[in-house]
Amino acid sequence: MARAYNFSAGPSMLPESVLAKAASEMLDYQGTGESVMEMSHRSKEYQAIIDGCEALLREVMGIPDNYKVLFLQGGASSQFAMVPMNLMTGSGKADFVITGQWATKAYKEASRYGDCKAVASSKDKTFSYIPKLDPAEFRTDADYFHICLNNTIYGTVWHELPDTGSVPLVADVSSCILSEPIDVSRFGLLYAGAQKNMGPAGLTVVIVREDLVGKAMESTPTMFNYQTHVDNGSMFNTPPTYAIYICKLVLEWLKNEVGGLAGMKKINEKKAGLLYDFLDRSKLFKGTVAKEDRSLMNIPFVTGSDELDAKFVSEAKAAGFLNLKGHRSVGGMRASIYNAMPVEGVEKLVALMAKFEEANG
Ligand code: PMP
Repeated sequence: MARAYNFSAGPSMLPESVLAKAASEMLDYQGTGESVMEMSHRSKEYQAIIDGCEALLREVMGIPDNYKVLFLQGGASSQFAMVPMNLMTGSGKADFVITGQWATKAYKEASRYGDCKAVASSKDKTFSYIPKLDPAEFRTDADYFHICLNNTIYGTVWHELPDTGSVPLVADVSSCILSEPIDVSRFGLLYAGAQKNMGPAGLTVVIVREDLVGKAMESTPTMFNYQTHVDNGSMFNTPPTYAIYICKLVLEWLKNEVGGLAGMKKINEKKAGLLYDFLDRSKLFKGTVAKEDRSLMNIPFVTGSDELDAKFVSEAKAAGFLNLKGHRSVGGMRASIYNAMPVEGVEKLVALMAKFEEANG
């Protein structure tokens, strides 16, 4: 059986060993006679899975003890509302940096709940860079300061975090969580949809400093209040049981086969380096992002001709390289090379691009 190289922005590839393990446990999870999918979330077997997943996430990311880990649903998009409902209750203000469509959506949704300010934006150049910040624009009484750490559509990443002083920094880490070490203590809250680096779609992870929980707006629905999920160990209602189980397997893979986040970073730098080096040398393909802001995870590129772009995407698809078409707002191509993309997948993509350049350059 030949597995394709899937360059999708998410859902994306999962490590083959994780899929194989899940397959081997599909019909009978460790002698229980049932699949994890069929298992009561109140069973002791399932409690061990969710506890194990949280313990591994804490270990792999080095999450300090004064942070809560929540396994929720609704995608990162729900957090665009949940964050303000729970956090924007002091001054009722929050500051945002507009680095792309997801950051814009977070800003617009939060604006329904309070006074939101865009302190900087890179919209003028199709979000192809991370804007310089003027700290004089930051509001020192804001309840939080929001960034999208890795911009999935545009392929930019914050290499340096803004210094927000005592204002909690909140980050959407959907497309970079687990890709390299991160100092969680720099943040008040991190959130991510799982479907890129953590597991299947349907699971949303929130990591929140405990002093930020318990301040939600009066009108906050029970399900949208972080306190509800803290008090109930993410089991107020039925959690996305199977997605959490796969996430646990992914974390075991990261810890035991990859060497944790330090090991993952080295591999991700190697993969991204292969593609960026090629783009910098190519006479046909060009990267679209400011060099100093390039992402390790999402790499957009163009030929400059819509016709050649389409030809490349279709030839790549026929050769087993899937989902290379760029987001409609950028055009061209985008290779999302998340954790589970093997180095070999990127090597082969670069070889394919070189061959295409020779034939079409
Ligand atoms: N934020 C970022 C950075 C994303 O890449 C995405 C999805 N591609 C989202 C938010 C939306 O996530 P979800 O589909 O889980 O709501």
